[in-house]
Amino acid sequence: MNRACPAIIGILALAAMAMPAHADVCRVSVEANDLMQFNQKKLEIGSGCSDVELTLHHVGKQPAQVMGHNWVLVRNADVAAVAIAGQNAGRSHNYQPQGDKRIIAATALVGGGETTTVMFSTASLRAGNTYTFFCSTPGHRSVMHGVLVFGDSSTREVAVRESSESPARGNTASPPTPIVAAEHT
Ligand code: ZN
Repeated sequence: MNRACPAIIGILALAAMAMPAHADVCRVSVEANDLMQFNQKKLEIGSGCSDVELTLHHVGKQPAQVMGHNWVLVRNADVAAVAIAGQNAGRSHNYQPQGDKRIIAATALVGGGETTTVMFSTASLRAGNTYTFFCSTPGHRSVMHGVLVFGDSSTREVAVRESSESPARGNTASPPTPIVAAEHT
């Protein structure tokens, strides 16, 4: 009977270890204000994130009827069409076409002082691709938009490029000192 105990503990331990891998939720937040601005132009989501929890915080004071904001994520090619469809849907539908599959994720429309959160899976995103987020309130998109990058490929490329440049900068930085000295003599 005692022999059964280690086996059960082992199964429980395996179950506990397996759980975090299933839901690697990454949290990002964006602020919007009364000046029709997002405080982020670029959101980077690591490829290790299985889900994203996005929080939109309206830091302004104007009510949703006057300066309502939302956060809508679409493929770059769908931005204009979804924006028009959202305008037609009206404020009662958060300026979002109902059940539109082109919308990858979207929050509710919020007014000043309000916060809203949306959780979405990254299963519909392709690693290395960029997407567009925008506010679909009529007239806001031209100012309130940004890029969401999924996956680390582009970030890693930039990081590699920067680190390979820094030794070169170090080499070119050494000659100026003798030149300055030469000017003095
Ligand atoms: Zn807006």
